[in-house]
Amino acid sequence: MNIRKELPALPYDRSALTPVITEETFDYHYGKHHAAYVKNLNNLIIDSHFSEKSVEELIQEGYEQQNAGLFNNAAQHWNHSFFWHCLSPGGGGTPTGKIKELIERDFQSFDTFKEEFSSTATKLFGSGWAWLAQDDRGKLEILPMKDAHTPLTASKTPILTLDVWEHAYYIDYRNARPKFIESFWEIVNWDFANHNLR
Ligand code: MN
Repeated sequence: MNIRKELPALPYDRSALTPVITEETFDYHYGKHHAAYVKNLNNLIIDSHFSEKSVEELIQEGYEQQNAGLFNNAAQHWNHSFFWHCLSPGGGGTPTGKIKELIERDFQSFDTFKEEFSSTATKLFGSGWAWLAQDDRGKLEILPMKDAHTPLTASKTPILTLDVWEHAYYIDYRNARPKFIESFWEIVNWDFANHNLR
């Protein structure tokens, strides 16, 4: 994905995923939280040697130099930009195409995969992301990652993600994270997953 150092347009209208994710959640999650990461990132890099670097390079540098402010804001901007595409008003249902084949190869069946991904997302303690990624041999794996962490710094290819920070679901689901995760399957974007495969 070509992720620039600005708030990207959403790939659908803010009300398009209602009732799974309401417009009010987009107003906060996209309009305030994501926008703040972009603003913070730009404030951190302005007039510095970082300003010429790509978002991916800033994530890597922040990670390697243990620069928490840089890493957290660059990675959260990247993760959210990627996450919006993991959802679609025409999504949900069972996977099709190559991702279907790979899920069945690496997790036995779609049902097993779905259960494992949901359980990983439910059990992730505190704030973070449940990722589906491919390793350097193309094998799919489910990775729970805390806070802003991303498969990019582990040299893995992100395929899908689900944001399980409280700000992702608290307006629509209050404390019921498992209900939010269950609803994710109604809007998950399999076309995007197929597009991300290496
Ligand atoms: Mn979020």
